Amino acid sequence: MFSSHAAPFESPRDKVPLIELRGISKQFGNTRVLDRIDFSLNAGEAIAIIGPSGTGKSTILRIIAGLLAADEGEIWVGGQKRLGLIEDAPDPLGIGMVFQQAALFDSLTVAENVGFLLYQHSRLSRREIKRLVSEALAMVGLPDVSNSYPAELSGGMRKRVSFARAVMSNPHKPTDRPSLLLYDEPTAGLDPIASTVIEDLIREIHSGQACSSYLIVTHQESTIRRTADWVVFLHAGRVQWFGRVDEIDSTDNPFVRQFFSAQVEGPIHVAG
Ligand code: ADP
Repeated sequence: MFSSHAAPFESPRDKVPLIELRGISKQFGNTRVLDRIDFSLNAGEAIAIIGPSGTGKSTILRIIAGLLAADEGEIWVGGQKRLGLIEDAPDPLGIGMVFQQAALFDSLTVAENVGFLLYQHSRLSRREIKRLVSEALAMVGLPDVSNSYPAELSGGMRKRVSFARAVMSNPHKPTDRPSLLLYDEPTAGLDPIASTVIEDLIREIHSGQACSSYLIVTHQESTIRRTADWVVFLHAGRVQWFGRVDEIDSTDNPFVRQFFSAQVEGPIHVAG
C-alpha cells in the first residue's frame, strides 16, 4: 500500500485507497521540502507521519486537506483525482482536520463552537443541533461544558472540544461525515496524563463509528506508539521508512534507530 523512491515498498492493492499521494513535491523558496512522495491510506487505517522538525510533515497534511497546492504530483481521493484546492471543488470524502492549536472561537461558547458549521450551513433546527452537539461532547467525555467559553477550559479540554467539532456531521447529509481525520501534533504541549486522554480519545474515535481512518503528525513517542498502526518516517523530502508501529524496535533502519534513541550521531543532521 505504500512506496517511496528512497525505500520502495509495495503491498497488494486489493482496494481503492481512501487517499493516495502520487509523486507529491513541494518547494518553498530554494528548499524542496517534499520530493516525490508516494503513499496511500486505506479505509480503517491509522498512519503516523514522523520525522525531525521541519521535514514537511505539516505540509503533507495541508496538501492532503486541500489547503495547499503541491508543485508536482497528484492527490487521489477515493479513487478519483482531486482537481485544485478545497475551495475549488466540493470535498467528496469529508476530511476533518484537528490542528495543533485547538483554534476555537474565543467569543463563542463551547456548544456554539462545536455546532458552528451546522448553524452556518445546515437547515437543522437549533434544537436538533443542540442535541447533536451534546452527543459529540459526551463522546469526548465533556458533557457539562456546553455553556463554558474556551478560555475557561484547560488545554487538554480545548483539544477535546476541537475533536468534537471535527467529527460533527449532519445526520441528514451522511456524506458530510468526515471519512478521514488529519491530526497535526494533537498532544504537543500537553502533560503525560492529558496526552493519554487525547491518545485514548483518538483511538476510541478510530474504533467507533465516527471516523475510522486518520493521519497523525506527531513527534511524541507515546502518541506514535499508542495511536498509529503504520509509521511513515520522513526526512530530507523523502520517505525513509515505512513500517508497522510494532516494528519500530526491531528495524535496523538508521533513521528510525537514531530518532527513537534520541542520538545526535546518525544520518539525521541536527541543526545548531
Ligand atoms: P514539520 O511539520 O515537519 O515540522 P513543516 O511542514 O511545518 O515541517 O515545514 C517544512 C519546511 O517548510 C520548514 O522549513 C518550513 O519553514 C517550510 N515552510 C512550511 N510552510 C511554509 C510556507 N507557507 N512558506 C515558506 N516556507 C514554509
